[in-house]
Amino acid sequence: MVDRASSRRKTPEVEPASGPESAAARPAPKFDKKTIALVYDFDGTLSPRPMQEYAFLPKIGADPAAFWAESNALAIQAHADPLITYMHLMYKKAKDKGVRIDRCDLVAQGRQVELFAGVESWFESIGAYVKSHAQSHGVQLRHYLISSGLSEIVEGTSIYKRFHNVFASEYWFDAYDLPYPKRVITDTGKTQYLFRINKGVEDLGLSINQHMPEAQRPIPFANMIYFGDGDTDVPSMAVMRKNGGHAVAVYPPGKSKAKCVDLFNAGRCDFFAPADYRRGSDLYRRTCLLLDRMLANIRVEEERWRLGRGLPPAR
Ligand SMILES: [Mg+2]
Repeated sequence: MVDRASSRRKTPEVEPASGPESAAARPAPKFDKKTIALVYDFDGTLSPRPMQEYAFLPKIGADPAAFWAESNALAIQAHADPLITYMHLMYKKAKDKGVRIDRCDLVAQGRQVELFAGVESWFESIGAYVKSHAQSHGVQLRHYLISSGLSEIVEGTSIYKRFHNVFASEYWFDAYDLPYPKRVITDTGKTQYLFRINKGVEDLGLSINQHMPEAQRPIPFANMIYFGDGDTDVPSMAVMRKNGGHAVAVYPPGKSKAKCVDLFNAGRCDFFAPADYRRGSDLYRRTCLLLDRMLANIRVEEERWRLGRGLPPAR
């Protein structure tokens, strides 16, 4: 993973006081809106089933369908947030079974999570596409994950290192007798992280609510694509599209695409395709079409930026 802990990320250095010497030493200003962010949901988008179903639920002897039904019923009955409820119920059931699960166990469970075909090679093939099609120097590609699932399980998957940053639900493991939710990422809460990526405020200790003019935001929404699979992604898709960004919906290959058709007809996504991430698939081709548009847009914006400063055209 590239520089994941944003708290470790360097803040831009303060420019030296202006003067003839420092002006000469200062590098020429550069158009810096050249980062493209691909943002993914996890369950149902990169992986066929909820990540807890591969190892956690089997380990505590819980049938997945029965577990989710119980968790959802409990949340409704108690007027509780469904995500806090599932995080609580998972550990309550483990405790009842005498199964102790800690952070290391969850990370190890991540190795059993199944990914859709081509996910592991997707990052490289899309990276190569952007590299070969970028019409200006300095274009960067980043992948982000925003998931209601557990960050510890994601950490154990083979693709964890591919993400620039992972925003997922997480436990405190030492707060109480039972692990306690430390961060819960709900459907609408996911949109906060889209704004964090857009504004470059990825350190969760920093507030995202302060106004930041569009011109100062390092990754414009126009440079972002959100990938999701269903109703839980509607708030994120809506935020993306209303702000000039892009969204792609996926469905399990060979299964019903009804949900995606609904999202498409409601204007929630630019495209939909089976969740087949292999090079040449419909998903690959449609993503590349959006990337073509983004790369052309970056070129246009860079040229406008240079023109506004009296600089010669970019070569
Ligand atoms: Mg999902």
